[in-house]
Amino acid sequence: MEAVRELMAAAKHLDEKGILNAIEGNVSLKRDGLIYVTPSGKNKAFLTEDMIAVVDEDGNQLAGSCKPTSELKLHLHVYKTRKDVGGVVHAHPTCLAAHAICGLPVRTKAYAELMTVYGSFEVAPYGRPGTDDIWKGIGPLLQKSDVILLENHGALAVGPSVLQAMNHMEAAEAIARVVTTAKLIGREKELPEEECRALLSMQEKNQKESIS
Ligand SMILES: [Zn+2]
Repeated sequence: MEAVRELMAAAKHLDEKGILNAIEGNVSLKRDGLIYVTPSGKNKAFLTEDMIAVVDEDGNQLAGSCKPTSELKLHLHVYKTRKDVGGVVHAHPTCLAAHAICGLPVRTKAYAELMTVYGSFEVAPYGRPGTDDIWKGIGPLLQKSDVILLENHGALAVGPSVLQAMNHMEAAEAIARVVTTAKLIGREKELPEEECRALLSMQEKNQKESIS
């Protein structure tokens, strides 16, 4: 039951941070060939262990009193295509989801934190939620990034564990909030081109090492 407790801890933490709610967002982890995933339509603050759905890699439900999230196909696709991933968070936090709705990536030349850790948050083409279309366009971005935006929808964060995927989603939203606020305040004070290149190459190197 260790996996169930870990999943619930991540879901409850993200709920407390306002990143998940009863209708929006879902969390999963993969362990020993099984996928543990939050149920459809339940408030993450009140999850109990029996509510967590356990499915095989094809999505067949093996345990749990509730049906899995309607975005199960998205989670299964991530585990199939990124073998290094052990946890997935899909959510609609305000700043990331607002960028996704506008079809705009989160990019800056002024915030070293974003540039060195993630580079940017890019937008994968729209696919209808709950269908296979949602994951069809994410492949190229998912191969090189742990956080991506889903056009007209929300955000996706992955990691070697569900706690690391949770950390990515929480940090990405905080970073997007800073970048958005800076743009509202005025013109960003951009770093010199040479410094931008150095920061982005650090990020590319770190990302390649973490995915390979
Ligand atoms: Zn969604």
